[in-house]
Amino acid sequence: MKRTAEFKTSKGAEVVVTAELKLTEIIYADGDNVTVDCCEMMPVKAIIDGFPDQAGYRNFHKPQKVNGFTALAAIGRLALSAKNAAKVEKIISEIEKHPKWIEKQEKIRKNQEEIAEMESRRIANGYCPKCGSYCYGDCEAN
Ligand SMILES: [Zn+2]
Repeated sequence: MKRTAEFKTSKGAEVVVTAELKLTEIIYADGDNVTVDCCEMMPVKAIIDGFPDQAGYRNFHKPQKVNGFTALAAIGRLALSAKNAAKVEKIISEIEKHPKWIEKQEKIRKNQEEIAEMESRRIANGYCPKCGSYCYGDCEAN
């Protein structure tokens, strides 16, 4: 599943941004290509007219002044104005609404809950996360 957004840089270069959720991949098994299901968020890509392609979307912690405009985010080295960042965030959020992605996030959340539960049970039974054994705090006593 792919979504694209188009806009111009502050200097007028055309930009095509692609966000992709990979839902199948080809694996090589004994000389055969086998298509299997997967659910991977690919790095956001930007194709910029006249410049090298950039990849990887990130928000800045604080707005940055770049070439006379205020940038809130970037794709690789391409700084994005609030308006352009909003276009990119929109296609990312569209992809994150895919049922398989939601299902995957739910699984991750459940796993983390189960791990936390298991950890707290072990700690209640005298397990020490510092030394990784049932030392009942002896490792700290010495
Ligand atoms: Zn210990």
